[in-house]
Amino acid sequence: MADIGETTLEIDLSALAHNFHFLKARLEPDTKFLGVVKAFAYGSDMVAIAKKLESLGIDYLAVAYVKEGVLLREAGITAPILVLHPQPTHFKALIDHGLEPSLYSPRVLREFLAIAEQQGQKKYPVHIKFNTGLNRLGFWENDVEFIFKQLNGSTVLKIKGMLSHLAASEDENERDFSLNQIDTFKEIATKLKNQLGYSPTLHMVNTSGILNYPEAQFNMVRSGIGLYGYGNHPHFDQVLKPVATLKTVISQRHKIEPGESVGYNRAFKSDGYRITATLPLGHADGIGRQYGGGKTFVTIKGKKAPIIGNVCMDMIMVDVTDIECKEGDEVIVFGKGNSAEGFANTAQSISYELLTAISSRVRRVIKP
Ligand SMILES: *Cc1c(COP(=O)(O)O)cnc(C)c1O
Repeated sequence: MADIGETTLEIDLSALAHNFHFLKARLEPDTKFLGVVKAFAYGSDMVAIAKKLESLGIDYLAVAYVKEGVLLREAGITAPILVLHPQPTHFKALIDHGLEPSLYSPRVLREFLAIAEQQGQKKYPVHIKFNTGLNRLGFWENDVEFIFKQLNGSTVLKIKGMLSHLAASEDENERDFSLNQIDTFKEIATKLKNQLGYSPTLHMVNTSGILNYPEAQFNMVRSGIGLYGYGNHPHFDQVLKPVATLKTVISQRHKIEPGESVGYNRAFKSDGYRITATLPLGHADGIGRQYGGGKTFVTIKGKKAPIIGNVCMDMIMVDVTDIECKEGDEVIVFGKGNSAEGFANTAQSISYELLTAISSRVRRVIKP
């Protein structure tokens, strides 16, 4: 295997294509597919992922903030882009870049309407977000009248979409709650449709919603984590392929004698003869201190090497006593062969948090 010589995050675009096709196969033929590429495409490479998704025929993309959408437009992405959590201070930039806002409150709707009007917009496409139980962002069911009054007779905006978001789509124990959210969304959609006289694009489910509530696909689904290879369930983690693999190398090996310690604050104290390897990545790269202390492992030559002692800013130390390895050898931190979900779970975290934490110091390597 070629010596990669440094810490890299390998982005496998063929794995992305596999995951896209797997999820797409679970949709009704006319259900649209929105790919969520917020937070640098879950910590990978937003532009590379968006371009690949466009080439695969994705219908829509979504980001959290306006500046993420602006980056996509500047990179030449032409697909419709939904901005899930736009702030009024960026509404002008949003319009300038042809992004579509998710409008989630009376304040945000009024401000968007005012700016779109100033800009002389006609039928500017917007999505209206309803809160059906997550209690995070969204209008309430009884805001339908208000929304309609604001837009009535105005040609400035066009309600192109209507969305909501499930609170616990991955949790089978919350099935009744999720079904109730879905019913509430249907009710609101009917009310809004009746008022508008046409039906906007309805979208509600995320990855786990696609997998667990196929009846709630409506007109479009929004998938993030599934595209990146994780399904919030061991079964789906098996069939999806991780897009991002964090790799590094062994910088140095040490022989540790009984009673010696390793790393800051002497957090690891050896009770025997051990061999450690020092790796060039640390909490500044996104592997937080919660992964120290021996409960999380990296893989070297297919074997588990626990992270021992405290995670440093730029380094971690792993125990390689039982692994035949040398300085310069490749180390898989997570990804292919050591799932990000499993790695994250050792510290009560989840794949989403681990993936999006990998900092910009780590070089991204795109594999076609
Ligand atoms: C992030 C996000 C998604 C994607 O969720 P996944 O679980 O990653 O598929 C979908 N919808 C909204 C509103 C989101 O914020």
